[in-house]
Amino acid sequence: MPPERSLKPKTFEVVVTEVIRETPDTVTLVLDAPEIPPYRAGQFLTIDPHVFPVIAGQVAYVEHLKGGKKELVRAYSMASTPQEALAVTVKEEPYRPGDLHAPLLSPLLVHGTPVGTRFPVVGFTGPFTLPPDIEQRTDHVVHLVAGSGVVPNYSILKDALRNHPNLRQTFIDTNKTWDDIIFRDGLARLAAEHPDRLTVVHTLTRHTDLRGLPSGVRQGRVGPELLREFIPDTGTAFAYLCGPAIASWDRKKALEEGTAPTPRFLESTIANLQAVGFTPARIKREAYG
Ligand SMILES: Cc1cc2nc3c(=O)[nH]c(=O)nc-3n(C[C@H](O)[C@H](O)[C@H](O)COP(=O)(O)OP(=O)(O)OC[C@H]3O[C@@H](n4cnc5c(N)ncnc54)[C@H](O)[C@@H]3O)c2cc1C
Repeated sequence: MPPERSLKPKTFEVVVTEVIRETPDTVTLVLDAPEIPPYRAGQFLTIDPHVFPVIAGQVAYVEHLKGGKKELVRAYSMASTPQEALAVTVKEEPYRPGDLHAPLLSPLLVHGTPVGTRFPVVGFTGPFTLPPDIEQRTDHVVHLVAGSGVVPNYSILKDALRNHPNLRQTFIDTNKTWDDIIFRDGLARLAAEHPDRLTVVHTLTRHTDLRGLPSGVRQGRVGPELLREFIPDTGTAFAYLCGPAIASWDRKKALEEGTAPTPRFLESTIANLQAVGFTPARIKREAYG
């Protein structure tokens, strides 16, 4: 197996060629550029909020609120595989009373970047990828995702169905409601096309009445029982997790208050995986917090 090459991310300008509405608060932006650097399924690109004049005032205000500290770039995972047209999928972060400020970039990307919009991106980077020799390490990859955390795993899933014929995949996707599920139709189509190699499980945390939904849809968060049910091989399977995690500012606040930060999807799912027998070496994570 050749060694994995790590390429330096490049700045290049993209143009939006299609905007696909996935859910009420989420769009996929299909992007094109004269030359797109190579990337691997699961990686991300970054976008600097300073490149959009329309939010320059908001960016400056947030920097003022943060004591003059320059706002950092935002990361967006590719929803596409390297064989497909380049695409990122962005979920609008809502403002919640008590937040330091209103979200800066995601509302603009979801509502204000129609076809024809041009902007620079930097890509590609990120270690959240399958190792090329994954089939020598395991025959089962389990995806555990929540909300927009589905994005890099969708890319990895599609890529592995194409390039790793001996791999089985279980895709456990947590959302608030049925209508919040990003790539719902795409996941159903892939499961129908690969019944022996892919199982998709949706679990809904705020959908109390499951009548009318396809059989097999679950209620609640991912716990040890669900993991044991769908992962009989907890001693050999690999887990790829992506979703909300404790943010650095939550950790800082908890430290100041002398409390422990409240675990979010990523922390609680890792604890549950370890409880059912996963070793840390077989758990890969991407934190969106
Ligand atoms: C590797 C990676 C990949 C990602 N991929 C995707 C993806 O594919 N799709 C996707 O939708 N998202 C993705 N994200 C999340 C994305 O990068 C942004 O974080 C998200 O879009 C929100 O950005 P924003 O500018 O809209 O909000 P922000 O302006 O970052 O605000 C978000 C919230 O954070 C709070 N906040 C920010 N800074 C502070 C602070 N210092 N103290 C207290 N509160 C603070 C704000 O008040 C607000 O509530 C990814 C993140 C990572 C790390």
